[in-house]
Amino acid sequence: MSNQTNSGLDLVLLGAPGSGKGTQAKQLSQQLELQHVATGDLFRENLKNNTELGQLAKTFMDKGELVPDDVTQKMVKERLSRPDISNGFILDGFPRTLPQAEALTEILKGLDRKLKGVLYINVSDEEIVQRLSGRLICRSCQTPFHLEFNPPAKEGECDSCGGELYQRDDDNPKTVHNRLDTYHKQTSPLINYYKTMGVLAEIKGEGDMDAITDEMMKVVRKL
Ligand SMILES: [Zn+2]
Repeated sequence: MSNQTNSGLDLVLLGAPGSGKGTQAKQLSQQLELQHVATGDLFRENLKNNTELGQLAKTFMDKGELVPDDVTQKMVKERLSRPDISNGFILDGFPRTLPQAEALTEILKGLDRKLKGVLYINVSDEEIVQRLSGRLICRSCQTPFHLEFNPPAKEGECDSCGGELYQRDDDNPKTVHNRLDTYHKQTSPLINYYKTMGVLAEIKGEGDMDAITDEMMKVVRKL
């Protein structure tokens, strides 16, 4: 194996919906001065700028179909090719499946880069169900609240804009269980793949958010 020449601190963040992955990605990218590359943002950016890939993605979305892997992969590749990535990145939301992970390995190889670490935030299903099934979102400004952990000042009303709070269909306990089943089916091969590559680091994602960030920083410094 040759030494990588272009790699910075190239990281992937894995975690179930409700694991706090997005929040931790933001924290880590700030503290480590890395680009937070979230696939949701990538999609929005490509659609907003009406790029070729954005237009292509839109043809599927307009039909209510999933955007095919190769379109997502091209977006990721384009994003990771930009100069602001030279110090490294935190990928959030990609890869989700083994084929996507293999594609990422190829993309990075093509850019003469290599993953430094894959941080897996492990939260028990029980805890995830509790977190997600208490979640409320403002209809007007999308601000999230939580019945137990972050309740609004006034029941059913958004603190920021006074809008109506509602529970997404995605967040009712039965749906959460289904989402978790899908997540585990897709993710366990990914976890094995990265374990075999020797880049997987597992972090317990329960308890105080800041303490979890500190724990992740410790892990990253040892990579
Ligand atoms: Zn609101």
